[in-house]
Amino acid sequence: MTKGNTDVIRKISSHLKANPKAKVILLVGAGISTSCGIPDFRSPKTGLYHNLSKLNLPFAEAVFDIEFFEDNPKPFYLLAKELYPGNFKPSKFHYLMRLFQDEGRLQRIYTQNIDTLEREAGTKEEYVIEAHGSFASNHCIDCDKQFPMEYFKTKIESSLDINSKKFEFAKCDKCGGLVKPNIVFFGEDLPVKFFETWDNDLKWMGSAKGSDTLVIVAGTSLAVYPFASLPTEIPKKVTRSLVNLETVGDFKTNPRNSDLVYCGDIDEAATILATELGWENKLDKFIEEGEEEGEHVEIADVLDDLKNLKIKAPLKEQTKIPSKEKLGKASPLEKDDIESLVDLTKSLQIEEQKKE
Ligand SMILES: [Zn+2]
Repeated sequence: MTKGNTDVIRKISSHLKANPKAKVILLVGAGISTSCGIPDFRSPKTGLYHNLSKLNLPFAEAVFDIEFFEDNPKPFYLLAKELYPGNFKPSKFHYLMRLFQDEGRLQRIYTQNIDTLEREAGTKEEYVIEAHGSFASNHCIDCDKQFPMEYFKTKIESSLDINSKKFEFAKCDKCGGLVKPNIVFFGEDLPVKFFETWDNDLKWMGSAKGSDTLVIVAGTSLAVYPFASLPTEIPKKVTRSLVNLETVGDFKTNPRNSDLVYCGDIDEAATILATELGWENKLDKFIEEGEEEGEHVEIADVLDDLKNLKIKAPLKEQTKIPSKEKLGKASPLEKDDIESLVDLTKSLQIEEQKKE
């Protein structure tokens, strides 16, 4: 196993140059978007959940909990306003993935991110599988009726203050239920499209020549299931590569002799790979064009907004404690985080009861 240096990136490039028909499958996570200013949900102290935990939410990820949303959609609306597509710019790695598409070398991108920066960078919908959903469409949480992107977007873009009596949440015209973006919340299933496409891509990998395929796993801690199990399912004849700050998941627990592991900065890896493949100028051009558009949004702004919300924490209700099973179902959290959050929620509840 090769590890920790730019030789690994050169090996990825050599594989692609030696096999002109080879196509790439990318499995990506929050690490490819941190350089865009989007906080990694799990990082201690700087992570989104850590910041949310300072607020009066009953538990940090209540903002992504379907039952909490039903009772109080305000925190999610505020967060969605900031995380909404268009507020952030793609990273070098996002543009590199776009280049794989433009050069006819892309089979698929599987992303755990909900920031839609893959689309923003110009990758076509047919190539992108958003495993945890996205803002691109909406549904009614009661009857499941589907609504176009605009249906929720107009609410987010409304000039009305969310605390104003005149503000109306997006509601279903059929049953009156709340309408929310198709982002996978705790307690919701992953999109069927994710499972179906992965099955098809597995078949493709199984039937293609090993040299005509390559998997690049990037910017993920490989701790969230079922996504974390994808690298284990890759046929042995297919070369797996990891571009990440550290060795994780199956690359750590079940390494294969053919694995290519690069530990380091992800955007730097994108630059080296683009240079090796002769795509450097194209990558620079995308970044220049991206910088000419709009401004970045600071995540601190949304946290201030959230602090100003007066949220009644329903700590006394047993039902509000998320079970480990429920959180684990489609959770963007690591297992340890889930357990500590459940413990934290329980201890908060005990304190609350003592006060009475
Ligand atoms: Zn409905």
